[in-house]
Amino acid sequence: MTVKHILNEQLLMGYAAGILPEAFDLVVASHLSLSDESRAMLGGYEAIGGAVMEDSDAVEMGADALASVMGRIKSEGTVQSKPAIKHAKPGILPEPLQDYVGGDVDKIKWRPLGGGVKQAILRTSGKAQARLLFIPAGTAVPDHGHRGTELTLVLQGAFSDEVDTFARGDIEIANEDLNHQPIASEDADCICLAATDAPLRFNSLIPRLLQPIFRI
Ligand code: ZN
Repeated sequence: MTVKHILNEQLLMGYAAGILPEAFDLVVASHLSLSDESRAMLGGYEAIGGAVMEDSDAVEMGADALASVMGRIKSEGTVQSKPAIKHAKPGILPEPLQDYVGGDVDKIKWRPLGGGVKQAILRTSGKAQARLLFIPAGTAVPDHGHRGTELTLVLQGAFSDEVDTFARGDIEIANEDLNHQPIASEDADCICLAATDAPLRFNSLIPRLLQPIFRI
């Protein structure tokens, strides 16, 4: 399938080197199951290993991050275990995600967040958190900013925000610079997998008050 919004180099490199938190690995592996293009890019990184650092396109990455990747590759020689990439099979949830949920969407244990929006927090190690989100068709989630990185992978339906429209397989990479209000498209309920490494920054009072309860 053709996916419009794919991974960036930093995330692919981090995934290949095994340095991402588990929650991010899960989003990346799920996206890779749905995007031939990202998978082809990853193949390149995995094949050339440390030589990727010579790629001039990689300069965006901070010096510390590069040193950390190199250190990890040199000292360990291998990468840590991470969710395996598998080709998409019929179903809404990509296979890496099905391993966490224990099946497809019918196995998700949703918890209401209000306004018909639901979430299911997935059990992952490390500081970053992964959750599935259910957003009814035509519904908006509270507008918010980000204190770190937020990866959102669309699994069903689509959402639009200040950046673009994202459909199945698309990944949105948000950071401190982005303030947005995702709205599910009118034609279908939207299911997303989202990972964050820091709490969101809600702009209105009620979501901010509920934030600790919902761990979002
Ligand atoms: Zn966001």
